[in-house]
Amino acid sequence: MRGLALTAGLLLAGCASAPAEVATTPPPPAAAAPAEAGKPPVPLQYLYGSAEAAIAVRAVNARIAGYGAWRVKERPRDSVVLAPGATMDAPRFEPCGDKPFAAVFDADETLIWNIAPMRLFAEKGGAFDLAVWDQWEKTGAGKAKAMPGTVEMVNALRAAGITVIANTNRSAGNAKGSEDTLRAAGLGEFKHGETLFLMGDDAGGSSKDPRRATIASKYCVIILGGDQLGDFSQQFNVKDLPAAQRMALATGPAATALWDKGWFLFPNPVYGPWQTLGWDDISSTDSEWKPR
Ligand SMILES: [Mg+2]
Repeated sequence: MRGLALTAGLLLAGCASAPAEVATTPPPPAAAAPAEAGKPPVPLQYLYGSAEAAIAVRAVNARIAGYGAWRVKERPRDSVVLAPGATMDAPRFEPCGDKPFAAVFDADETLIWNIAPMRLFAEKGGAFDLAVWDQWEKTGAGKAKAMPGTVEMVNALRAAGITVIANTNRSAGNAKGSEDTLRAAGLGEFKHGETLFLMGDDAGGSSKDPRRATIASKYCVIILGGDQLGDFSQQFNVKDLPAAQRMALATGPAATALWDKGWFLFPNPVYGPWQTLGWDDISSTDSEWKPR
């Protein structure tokens, strides 16, 4: 499972065909996470099956809908998209002007759950299979499902006059499949180049920053939603960024001013760049303890 999650995470989180600054070298494979025979691995049990996760995801969606309805009442000066060259330490944002409002979401594990391919990968020992994933992008329509509360959330945003846009690292070559997948999940129309932005649309590779800049040139982006920090800024994906620094960037004052106030994160324990973390990253000698 570790291998699956890691590789899938790198792809879906935006590290496939990555530009130079993005970590592309996965760490050595680790033993698969223990899963009881015939049962899904624990992260899949939690995210796709538990009431606990359904409640957590619904809560994020409800916060987004509420924030959007509130935010459009008084036009903000700036988008929540960082301006080119701006850093989290000294953030500057794309100005809104009189541009129409938009909310920009990642797709995978943000708008839709990809249970079928994750099950296939888990059952085949945890290896991510790019060829299978490519087929899923092409033919998953009707099988990928909207996450809990997501249909209600996108409907509420649209009713408030906010254009809903997806910015995903699915392939531009499979645009029709992804348009069909989002529509079949009940999420309405996403049109490539207008309200659907894909990897391959520009020279940025898996970095979503250039696509975000394109969107922010046309829209006042009041909401970014995602399950990975790269859905908010590529600064979090800089190659070899130490875990402690990434944590500091993501939880420092500038980012904290945005979480749940323009930037909205969905839980995803199935895959993500945090899969490189070791024991030293999650505990210190201060917290070591053993039973007598
Ligand atoms: Mg995602």
